[in-house]
Amino acid sequence: MTKQQQRMPGSDPLRDGAVLDVRGLTVEFPARGRNVRAVDNVSFTVGRGEIIGLVGESASGKSTLGLALMRMIPAPGVVSAGTIAFGGRDLASLPEAEMRELRGKALSLIVQDALATMNPVTTIEEQITEVIRDHGGDRSRKSLRARATEMLREVRLPNAEQSLNRYPHQLSGGMQQRVAIAEGLILGPELIIADEPTTALDVTVQAQILALLRDICDTRGTSIIFVTHDLATVAEICDRVMVMYAGRIVESGTVSAVFSKPAHPYTKALLSGLLPLSGEPPAELEALPGQPPRPDAWPTGCRFHPRCPLWRALGEPEICTTTDPEVDESDSHWAACHFADLEGAGR
Ligand code: SF4
Repeated sequence: MTKQQQRMPGSDPLRDGAVLDVRGLTVEFPARGRNVRAVDNVSFTVGRGEIIGLVGESASGKSTLGLALMRMIPAPGVVSAGTIAFGGRDLASLPEAEMRELRGKALSLIVQDALATMNPVTTIEEQITEVIRDHGGDRSRKSLRARATEMLREVRLPNAEQSLNRYPHQLSGGMQQRVAIAEGLILGPELIIADEPTTALDVTVQAQILALLRDICDTRGTSIIFVTHDLATVAEICDRVMVMYAGRIVESGTVSAVFSKPAHPYTKALLSGLLPLSGEPPAELEALPGQPPRPDAWPTGCRFHPRCPLWRALGEPEICTTTDPEVDESDSHWAACHFADLEGAGR
C-alpha cells in the first residue's frame, strides 16, 4: 500500500460474499467538445443486509453514481469504464433487455419525489401490481390485490386495503413514500438505491420511514445504498459511509469509525456541525466555505485543495496541487488525502 492509500489501523480487509462489487466505475458526459467525468474511478462493495450512506454536497456525483448502478444515466451520459458485479453479472456491460429484467426484481430505485414517479390517473393497486405484471408474475386479479395489500401492510401504510383504491394525490407525502417503497420491495430485490427518500418529509414521518428501511434490511437481508446530504440520517441507520467529493469517494469506513475519527478534511468539515453519535444531532450542518467545483473544472492535484483548511494550515504544500491522492479499493476505513490523520483513527 502506498502512503497515499491511507488505510486506517484496525480496519477490515475486503470482504468476501459482497452483494455488489463496483470497480473503477466512471461516468462521462460530453460538454463543450470533450468528455467530462461526473463519477471518476469509484470502487466499493456492499454486503448483504448492509446500509451504506453515500454523502456529499450537491454535484459531488452521488446521485449520478446511484443512477449508474441502475444503468439509468440519462443520454448522452455513459458508463465509460469499470465493472458493476451483481448476482454473477457485470451490470456495466449487460444488454439493456437483461438490465430491464433486473430493475425492480433484483435491484430497485427509490427516489425523493415519490409522487413524480407515479401515474396520477391510476390507483395505488394498479401502480403496485403493474410491477409484478411487468415481470411476468401471477396475473390473477385476486392474488395480485392480496399481494399488494400484504406489501402495503409490510410498509405499515394505514388502511392498506382501502388505500389500494385511492389515487396518488389522495395520499399524504409520507404515505406516497411508503407506496414507493412497497413498489420497490414487492419483487424482493437484493439491493435498493434510495436517493434522498426522506428529504421531503416532515421529521416524524422521516423517522418512521428510516426505521422501516432499517427493519427491512434486518428482516429481509436487503442491502441499501442510501444517497443523502444529511449526516444525521447516516448516523441514524447506516452501517458504513462513503463520502464523495468532485466525482470521487474521498473517505470510507464504518459509520462509527468515520464519525469518531474522520480522516479527510472534507469529512471533518461536514461533520463539524454534528454532535457525537450518542448525542442529539442538530438540524443544520455547518456549511463548508466556497462551492464544490463543476465536473468540467476540477482543480488539479487534490480536487479539494482550493477549499481545504488543512492545505492552508500546512502552508499550501505543492503536492496537493500537483498530485491526486490515491484512493483505496478496500472496505477498510481510508481517506484519499496526502496528510490524512492516521493517528488513532479507526480504533
Ligand atoms: S491532499 Fe492536501 S488539499 Fe487534499 S484534502 Fe489532503 S491536505 Fe487537503
